[in-house]
Amino acid sequence: MTTFAELQLMEPLLRAINDQGYDTPTPIQVSAIPHLLEGRDLFGIAQTGTGKTAAFALPILDYLAGDPRPPKPRRPSVLVLTPTRELASQISESFKSYGKHTNIKHAVVFGGVGQGPQVRALKQGIDVLVATPGRLLDLMEQRHLDVGDVEVFVLDEADRMLDMGFIRDVRKVVAKMPEDRQSLLFSATMPPEIVKLASRMLKDPVRVEVDPPASTVDRIDQSVLFVDKNMKRKLLSQVLRNESMYRVLVFTRTKHGADRVVRHLQKGGESAAAIHGNKSQGQRERALEGFRSGKLRVLVATDIAARGIDIKDITHVINFDLPNIPDSYVHRIGRTARAGRDGVAISFCSPDEREYLRDIEQTIHHELDVVREHAFPSEAAEKGIVPDAPADARNKQTHGSNPGGGRSSSRRGGRRGSRSGGRGRGSAKKSRSGERASGKASGGERRSGGGRSMGHSS
Ligand code: AMP
Repeated sequence: MTTFAELQLMEPLLRAINDQGYDTPTPIQVSAIPHLLEGRDLFGIAQTGTGKTAAFALPILDYLAGDPRPPKPRRPSVLVLTPTRELASQISESFKSYGKHTNIKHAVVFGGVGQGPQVRALKQGIDVLVATPGRLLDLMEQRHLDVGDVEVFVLDEADRMLDMGFIRDVRKVVAKMPEDRQSLLFSATMPPEIVKLASRMLKDPVRVEVDPPASTVDRIDQSVLFVDKNMKRKLLSQVLRNESMYRVLVFTRTKHGADRVVRHLQKGGESAAAIHGNKSQGQRERALEGFRSGKLRVLVATDIAARGIDIKDITHVINFDLPNIPDSYVHRIGRTARAGRDGVAISFCSPDEREYLRDIEQTIHHELDVVREHAFPSEAAEKGIVPDAPADARNKQTHGSNPGGGRSSSRRGGRRGSRSGGRGRGSAKKSRSGERASGKASGGERRSGGGRSMGHSS
């Protein structure tokens, strides 16, 4: 097994990694770091939760700290673009933690908050800037910021950028950066637009692929409780009586649904809050902070609001509503079991969600364990019989659907790469690709007997 020391990172970084309590590098770190230290471009197919932030932050810090010079006002050497404020804050925190024994200066800019403090931070001089695209462009237009000296560019969560309509902004930023830079692009999926963007943005990239959905899914204890829609809140209260659930993320399909669940839980004396698009930035941050610190045991979120949240030690994910897109299920449950830990995911399934469950099981090649011993079991839900559906629709219900400046002296050929005093870094390693665990795809008629009880899933 590769160690961090074998990755030949400099000592202040190894100390910081040790302070973080990381024992061994994650697969993406093992695959990416040696190439990045050599100055190669990288196309990383990986999602949040794989340790990808350290995979790019560590070699960047190694590069900057190995060639120290005063940070320049308004002109960062490294730019990390990421789609959401939450991700931007988390990446910035990572640079802070990993760079704590170095003098590298970093700043973070994102929208939704006043720009004054961000402008002041830029003026003071920065090496690394972490940004969301909209605010970055605003600041560039106001000349508070210039990306003309960027040597290393990281585009994080490129597919989300696309989903959120940021790709044009990204292209505008890229056009303002020097051609001779090192570029890294990370994306969890590879729609054609991302492949096109990568081919334009990256030069002879190393491709590194890790497949967290399968490995994540394998490590998570997943179960389903069949329940009628109107009993879900009561069931949630019952399930939450389990005291080993000390940090629980609950997913609902809608914002109003999230608020209703929170009101219900609070009435029962539970410490809970919601995050979703109707909450202000301040409210979201307070809720996340309360959840991180342990003041709030339960956080209720919608899929969009939960994107990119990185909170350690989420013990349980509860799908109060099942998502109609199987990938969302994988993303949701990936919030537990981060970076090698195991987690528990519990899903409530009402009669109208029975098909969603089937789609999810087909996607993950895994059947969820059925917990029948709970206070509100629903046979109609298990059989997928929606009580008020017309007869012909009811017949169909049991059949699955399948929806488908200045550092040039240390650079080789204009791009960063061989630094003076090279440390004998090895030659390029082969990229890895994770393998998706395959198992039996779930069919229609297989849930016979042998349910389990809630105690089993704690
Ligand atoms: P990321 O994919 O960058 O969002 O990282 C997911 C989580 O894994 C974060 O909480 C990191 O602190 C943690 N992490 C990153 N690298 C390691 C490692 N080598 N060992 C243990 N945890 C790690």
